[in-house]
Amino acid sequence: MLTLEFYRNLPKKQCRECGKTIEEQHESYVYECERCMGKHEA
Ligand SMILES: [Zn+2]
Repeated sequence: MLTLEFYRNLPKKQCRECGKTIEEQHESYVYECERCMGKHEA
């Protein structure tokens, strides 16, 4: 899958909100750490 290949080639993702390195547990459009995502959902 081309999209998956694209993300695998990226350097470690960082949260766009706080700059924390995001663990590679999401395979798609995630640019925020769990804490910041939770903040948006609240
Ligand atoms: Zn964050």
